[in-house]
Amino acid sequence: MGRNLLEKIENKSQSWYPEISFTVDFIRVQILWNTRKRVKIMSAAGELLRQSRKIVIKLGSSTISDEHGNIDKELMQNLTDQLNELMKDGKQVIVVSSGAGICGVAAINKWHRKGDMNYKQALCAIGQVELMNAYKELFGKYDTHVAQMLLCRDDFGDQNRNLHIRNTLFTLVDEGVVPIINENDSVSVEEISIGDNDTLGALTANLWGADLLVILSDIDGVYDKNPRVYDDAKLITEVHGADALMKNIDTKGVSDFGTGGIVTKLHAAQLVNDYGIPMILTNGWKTDILRKLMSGEEEATVFYGEE
Ligand code: ADP
Repeated sequence: MGRNLLEKIENKSQSWYPEISFTVDFIRVQILWNTRKRVKIMSAAGELLRQSRKIVIKLGSSTISDEHGNIDKELMQNLTDQLNELMKDGKQVIVVSSGAGICGVAAINKWHRKGDMNYKQALCAIGQVELMNAYKELFGKYDTHVAQMLLCRDDFGDQNRNLHIRNTLFTLVDEGVVPIINENDSVSVEEISIGDNDTLGALTANLWGADLLVILSDIDGVYDKNPRVYDDAKLITEVHGADALMKNIDTKGVSDFGTGGIVTKLHAAQLVNDYGIPMILTNGWKTDILRKLMSGEEEATVFYGEE
């Protein structure tokens, strides 16, 4: 549009008003300069966030808790504020959230040293209520309703259940409700558990037919080696084929409250990329992270399928 306008003015100026040709050149310089500036500030992650309409966003335990394992309400508020902004821009959002276990410990302040499965599952049952209460309150600020869906691996493997999950998700989202999905930890024994919410996020994105999966973690993205161990680790901003990358980087080490580590994030990328869905891995601990990715102030890793 800018160029058409420019051509029109230019034609006019050359034939009828030669005296304004300097002004036209000046406008051209301005337009070119602005275009360059825009190209420079738009990161791949920001561009994807802008373009995508259906977004699944996964929040890790370590994303929504502080270093002591307590829910970080301020951080959660900042994230839900940004999600509401995306929705106001016409985007649809599904949240996959971990954190039931740590919320359970914070709520009753005991059993955190117990290793038995029944206690772990009981803590998740208690904590899930706390987690949903937090989301209800935070989204409630915008009069946005939230809905809880607890899923297991079996739910994704069964065609009939698949259909029902899809229908429920479509209905909720179409009606402006934000589904908050978590693994049904209290019933998930090893054989039927998904095991980590990165995979749950990827399965959800594929089932819903999302345009984008965003995984928020405690790290800016994937590095050539663990940045918590190596100071000289370098952030990789674009990945074309996560499986090839996995063979070439050092992936050891997880944070205290996380369950998956970086490997499950790479697996999640593979899962969605196979369905043609890109994935962003970025740092949920950073205030305004989604806004900053869109303005080019922050970087992340974007995973595309193999070229
Ligand atoms: P979450 O709780 O958000 O799911 P995790 O703790 O499970 O996060 O996984 C992220 C952690 O993986 C990072 O904090 C980092 O310590 C570790 N890690 C290991 N190797 C890498 C790597 N190559 N790039 C980035 N992070 C890595």
